[in-house]
Amino acid sequence: MTDTWEKLTHDIITCRRCPRLVAWREEVARVKRRAYRDADYWGKPVPGFGDPGARLVIVGLAPGAHGSNRTGRMFTGDSSGDTLFAALHRVGFASQPVATARDDGLTLHDTFITAVGRCVPPKNKPTSQELANCRPFLARELALLTHARARASTGVILALGRIAFDGVLHLLREQGVNLPSLAFAHGATYPLPAPWPALVASYHPSRQNTQTGRLTMAMFDAVFDDIRTRLGPVP
Ligand code: SF4
Repeated sequence: MTDTWEKLTHDIITCRRCPRLVAWREEVARVKRRAYRDADYWGKPVPGFGDPGARLVIVGLAPGAHGSNRTGRMFTGDSSGDTLFAALHRVGFASQPVATARDDGLTLHDTFITAVGRCVPPKNKPTSQELANCRPFLARELALLTHARARASTGVILALGRIAFDGVLHLLREQGVNLPSLAFAHGATYPLPAPWPALVASYHPSRQNTQTGRLTMAMFDAVFDDIRTRLGPVP
């Protein structure tokens, strides 16, 4: 049966395959954080979002407890998103530098944002089984993002953090792509066999990474400047 964005979104949002994560996402949504005590938390798996014709596919780790587990949109409503959308806006991939809610008017150009995990994990650590459970959703997104693969010579999968990077490699190998051992390093760019676009690695823009200086804005901007050059002007 032909897959569609509508079917995929429905399957993601209604998924209850990982009991530990179902319990955690719902508990976080029920208990809330004091600053958001009046908010109506999403508390469900979070689907990817953006331009279905994108050549840039950004893959993160999983929803933040009080970020996208609250707002229902990837990287929306927490400090990781503040860093990511500011960088995307500077190079023309996002219509605005901030993302606060699903209805905040933000649009992405030539860019789609997703993650290897759809449910917030305790301590930001999904198990390998939970990641395996969730990988088919990323596979289906990548299959629907035909533009990224049709333009394999210019398209990019950007993995934010080592877990996302390893998750993308795992998915590719499950799909029969013959890959050598590829090392995670900030800014590393690896061409993949056609029809796959290049794989680029970056440190995750988590608060921990930005506050410790492991990831500076200049380092993050450099990754997006390279991608911008690779993709050329916004279509
Ligand atoms: S992490 Fe993925 S597979 Fe597990 S319950 Fe959430 S959506 Fe389903």
